Amino acid sequence: MERGDVILFGAGPSAVATDVLTTAAAALLNYQQTGLGVAEHSHRSALAADIVNNMKADLADFLEIPSTYDILIMQGGGSGQFDATVYNSVLVWVENQRRKIVQANADISEEELIRQLKQKVQSDLRLDYLVTGSWSLKANQEAVRLLGPSHVNVATDSRKINDGKFGKIADESTWNLSDKPAMIYLCENETVDGVEWPKFPKSLESRASDDETLVVGDFSSTILSRRIPFDKFSVVYFGAQKNLGIPGITVVVIKKSLLATLSQAKPELARKAGLPVPPTILDYAVTAKNNSLYNTLSIFDVFVAGQVLKKLLATFPDKVRGQEAVSAKKAALLYDVLDSYPEIYKVVPDKSVRSRMNLCFRVTKGGNVDEAEKAFIKGATERGLLGLKGHRSVGGIRVSNYNVIDEAGAQKLATFLKDFATSA
Ligand code: PLP
Repeated sequence: MERGDVILFGAGPSAVATDVLTTAAAALLNYQQTGLGVAEHSHRSALAADIVNNMKADLADFLEIPSTYDILIMQGGGSGQFDATVYNSVLVWVENQRRKIVQANADISEEELIRQLKQKVQSDLRLDYLVTGSWSLKANQEAVRLLGPSHVNVATDSRKINDGKFGKIADESTWNLSDKPAMIYLCENETVDGVEWPKFPKSLESRASDDETLVVGDFSSTILSRRIPFDKFSVVYFGAQKNLGIPGITVVVIKKSLLATLSQAKPELARKAGLPVPPTILDYAVTAKNNSLYNTLSIFDVFVAGQVLKKLLATFPDKVRGQEAVSAKKAALLYDVLDSYPEIYKVVPDKSVRSRMNLCFRVTKGGNVDEAEKAFIKGATERGLLGLKGHRSVGGIRVSNYNVIDEAGAQKLATFLKDFATSA
């Protein structure tokens, strides 16, 4: 089997364009004629710093990230960010409370400060989660593990309006947002459930403006495929392994004003108030201060991401808008075929929240779904269309329509969908 014989529609890691991998493979052996591969050079070398800085600049350029935001490259994946977002938002919250207490009484003793802080923690510390699928649920569960259930508020849970399953997003008027939560967390695209936010929620519009509430978005599975209203977010994060490159690095885009607050925050105060403090490698301020090189970073992963971005910038003069149009076109092509055969395919999520990146559906041909899906996967595999099995927790079929799939690739799958639907 050659690379050209298959197309990977798996949910992650995704495929990487062959020309990018060819460049990466050469760099892994001998980078810029130094005699050493890119993964062998010190992460403290000027050469490594260049790779990091170029990747960050190209990311900012492609996504039009405002200059009021910083870009951090971290490790630990999206799962690490489930923790990092909690730790860092708690630290910002503690620092904001400390400032208020000290403003009211400049001569306050440390003992009294801690007493008042503890009281505030009990009465006011809340983290809000919009639970719209398996990944926001996991993030929510992680917050409960770190802080305990009394500090974590589920502002909406899609399962409540959809027979216990994900697949819809409840009307904002039904949400139960806290008054001044330390964080509001959403997952922009639920990779497992095929649910994508159609637009930024109205009720969060100005929540990030005063830096008291961190509005956090997990963009792991849609990054580089649509514009992001950065000014409405405090933190946007994403793993590299779907649209940005290979597994290993996680990118955090964070408001610089928050980094300033974090760099003044006192973790020991949070600890004395009974709250968990960030492990150093999950501390956003430490990462920023060290230009993401606090500890050994996989410069090879950053290099690959940089090459993906260079290719995107060369392909789309209008940057993310160009990729957004292509992504929408590919998704429309595939959903149109699925909707044309209602006896054969049943898209799982509601039309209003269908993901452009992860298309989740059941195959109902012949009435026996298990058999039909087995036959579907077998037929697809025979044509070199791989990775279509749904997540083990939900079953069914999932097409991951990431940026690396070009229009011709999407067309090949559309043709198979039609052929499978119309065959005897
Ligand atoms: N968030 C989303 C939306 C994901 O799709 C994933 C993984 O697929 C994660 C978080 C977890 O990422 P990781 O496996 O890098 O921890």
